[in-house]
Amino acid sequence: MKKGIHPQYYPQATVICTCGNTWTTGSTKPVLRIELCPKCHPFFTGEQRIVDTAGQVERFMRRLEKAQVQPRKKKEERRRKRLERRALLVEEEAAETASEESASEA
Ligand SMILES: [Zn+2]
Repeated sequence: MKKGIHPQYYPQATVICTCGNTWTTGSTKPVLRIELCPKCHPFFTGEQRIVDTAGQVERFMRRLEKAQVQPRKKKEERRRKRLERRALLVEEEAAETASEESASEA
């Protein structure tokens, strides 16, 4: 090993988790303090723990329920509805510009 470029190695470094679990490992730091370890991480414990911000889970469940009661319309139908709405908008706009033109002419 080249001299002066390697950090001090601790073959018996202590890992301390916030849950109280400790073990030793090799590290360049003598003590490692961690928040999660294999003893307390939800993935390993199988515990259902989620951080639900702004009720996103609840919202999803509501959508899921709604979808089961009333399934989504077929794509063809959705497309037809959208085109109808768009046609109506264009018509309205055309009517507006026509009235504006007649107003400026007068
Ligand atoms: Zn832990």
